Order: sequence, then structure tokens, then C-alpha cells
Amino acid sequence: MAADAQAISRHVSAAGLQIVPVGVGSAYSAPGEAQSCYLVSAAGRSVAIDLGSGTMNLLQRRIAPEDLDAVVITHLHPDHCVDLMSLRVYMVWGPGAGTVLPVHGPPGLRDRLAAFSGSEGWDTAFAFSDLEAGGGEVDLGDGVVLRHREVPHLPPTHAVRVEHGGRSICFSADCAPNEDLPDLARGCDLLVCESSFGAEPVPDGLPHLNARDAGEIAARAGAGRLLLVHCSPEFDRDAALDAARSAFGGPVAWARQGEAVAA
Ligand SMILES: [Zn+2]
Repeated sequence: MAADAQAISRHVSAAGLQIVPVGVGSAYSAPGEAQSCYLVSAAGRSVAIDLGSGTMNLLQRRIAPEDLDAVVITHLHPDHCVDLMSLRVYMVWGPGAGTVLPVHGPPGLRDRLAAFSGSEGWDTAFAFSDLEAGGGEVDLGDGVVLRHREVPHLPPTHAVRVEHGGRSICFSADCAPNEDLPDLARGCDLLVCESSFGAEPVPDGLPHLNARDAGEIAARAGAGRLLLVHCSPEFDRDAALDAARSAFGGPVAWARQGEAVAA
């Protein structure tokens, strides 16, 4: 395990492509884990991918939210987007006032947030764009590009890949096993992959992955390294690491909140 942890870590430089797992938890999280949020940055550009419960406060350890170039929401489940509600308050009445933040997400995101919060006026803080059906890309500037691809989960859900300077990081979002994720992740330096059920079988009909699935996807994609995330708290994480490692054959580790990993 120690050898894998060493193989996962690369020198993190300010300008190079890196990911900070801000929150790594799932729909209900282990004590101390926030839900889904990944801060990806390169060349002075930063994008927050997902903003689940508990991540708005942790994100501020890394960046003032108004300095983000974009927020990308992979799908409408609350563990991936609910903290947009506190971010909105910050952006309208707090230190972010006066800045409009681009938010790329599934169609219906704004209506969902307005319905739950009971407030209108979401366009004061955010400039919403729908992620294109099937897939597409978002140019973040300075050579940083985010590609997204629809994967099977709550329709529509998009896995994402961020590229800069020949390096790449891919995030699975939540999904059932599929052909699109390994295709999107092809040759990436780092695959960050959900493993909701650890080493246990995924119950029939639930569109999620376990650690063996994550390892198989990393192997099929030819990913350089694999970081596991989004595991329900009751599952054995060491057993999950073993399952992922045997399916992948490359370096595997659990993502740790707040610990940057270079591409
Ligand atoms: Zn989730």
C-alpha cells in the first residue's frame, strides 16, 4: 500500500495539472468526509467539479470561490450539487458579490435549485450553461480543456476529463459499468473513479461501480494511476484496494481530502 501511495504522488507544481479531492464521500458519507467535489487546476485556471454537501466550506481552504473559472456539475443528485445553494448566498450577499460564476451542468439544474431553495434570482450569481447531450467540451482558457461524456446513471450524468499540457485527469462521476468512460479516460494520467460498494457486489439495478469495476475500467482505458472515491462508509476499504489493484495492475490508492495529486 505504501508503494502505491508513493507511485500515486507526483510533484505538484503551481502551474501543472492537478486535482484536489475537496470531498470524496458518497450519498451518505463516513464521519469527516464531505460529499463529491474535486478542484482541478492548471496554468492559473481552476474548475470545481461537483459541489456536494460539506464542500463549500472546505473549498475555501484552497480558493476563494469567486476566483473559480467554472463550476461543473456532473448530475442532479444532491450529493453532487447541493452546496451550490450556500455558494449562491456567498456570491450574492457575501464576498463573491459582483462576480458571475459560469456553472455548467445538466439541463434543469437551475430549476432544481430554485425549487429546493424557494428562491429565484439564481442568475445574479451564476451563468448557467447546459452540458451538451451525449458529450462535448468546455474551454477553460490558457490551454485547459474539459471534455465531458454522458455515462449511465441518473440521466443525464457526465463523466469529465480535464487536459492541459499533454497531461490529463478523468473523473467517472457516478455510473454503471459502460463503454463511454474507458473511452473518455483513454490514456489519461490519472483516473478518479467512484467505488460506491467497495469490494462488494453492486446490487442489481443500481447504476454504480465497485472497486473491481473501477480497476477494470482503469485497465481498459490504459490509465496511468487510479484514485478511488465515493465509497459508502460501511465497506472495507483495504479489501476494495486489493480488488481494484488486482483488476488494474497499476498504482491504486484512496483519494484523501485536501491532498493534491498531480496529473
Ligand atoms: Zn453520488
